[in-house]
Amino acid sequence: MVKCSFCDKPAVYINKVNGKAYCKKHFLEYFDHKVRKTIRKYRMFDKKEHIVVAVSGGKDSLSLLYFLNKLSKKVPGWKISALLIDEGIKGYREYTIKDFLRIVEKLDVPYRIASFKEYFGYTLDEIVAISREKKLPYLPCSYCGVFRRYLLNKVAREMGGTVLATAHNLDDIIQTYMMNIIKNSWDKVARLAPITGVIEHPKFIKRVKPFYEVLEKETTLYALLNNLLEPVFYECPYVEYNIRVYIRRYLNELEEEYPGTKYSILKSLLRIIEILKNNPKEITKGTLQTCRVCGEVSSHPICRSCMYRYELGIMKLEEEEIVKKVLKELKIS
Ligand code: SF4
Ligand SMILES: [Zn+2]
Ligand SMILES: [Zn+2]
Repeated sequence: MVKCSFCDKPAVYINKVNGKAYCKKHFLEYFDHKVRKTIRKYRMFDKKEHIVVAVSGGKDSLSLLYFLNKLSKKVPGWKISALLIDEGIKGYREYTIKDFLRIVEKLDVPYRIASFKEYFGYTLDEIVAISREKKLPYLPCSYCGVFRRYLLNKVAREMGGTVLATAHNLDDIIQTYMMNIIKNSWDKVARLAPITGVIEHPKFIKRVKPFYEVLEKETTLYALLNNLLEPVFYECPYVEYNIRVYIRRYLNELEEEYPGTKYSILKSLLRIIEILKNNPKEITKGTLQTCRVCGEVSSHPICRSCMYRYELGIMKLEEEEIVKKVLKELKIS
């Protein structure tokens, strides 16, 4: 049995980078210290904030909600709310909503569930069926990601949020970094900063990632030790086994062989983001405008969400007219 490096209790976690072992109590202290340090280092929150936590019902987002709610008890100017986007995926979302409700009710956190059906008139399942019928070249995850990001920003603003906290952990961030290097998408790399959207657009809620420096296995253990997870694991039926799966596996192998690799990659990312900031030509693709159809934040005259709705044929006639007019101006038929 491995003992905790700080007391006599059995270890539940070994950090290969600093060589220390942690019992439950000392792991929770270590986790708490690490996340607070990240929040301070990047100045994620002000003294007065309405923090909307984006919660999917999975281990990372439930851990983040639990963590920020606990921390908020010590900061009188903070208000915490939870936001879940219900895409409308049968056989999956209804179960994760149950986990979400169990935790928000236990923590007594105000929450909002916003659905694709409510805002776009269709569930993701219906959108996928239309897309397949029309033989559009997009995968379910493309619609899901675009519509979800769109609603997170819009609904968090409607809720009066001043900042949106997402549960991306170090593993998620460096995997996305690697994927965007492969795709040569430097504008997307620039968006992987710990805090984004401070000044770019008045309708864009500032986004922060408090788990930026926390490993995925640490957020999983945090969720387990705080009884946030049900033993059943639900997987979305549309999950794509794309390049991320290989990158994830490869990065885990590298970390096993050379502990500290993941932190080094994160440092490399932070350095690249600094370099990109001084080289706006590389990130101009990400410059924010206002969508001519819906008035939301966009990197093009029409936002991706409205373009998808247009292509699917699920927007109002008057909206369609605007899209046609803009496309004509841009000379795209
Ligand atoms: S796997 Fe794809 S479709 Fe399913 S929830 Fe994730 S992004 Fe959405
Ligand atoms: Zn201990
Ligand atoms: Zn739009």
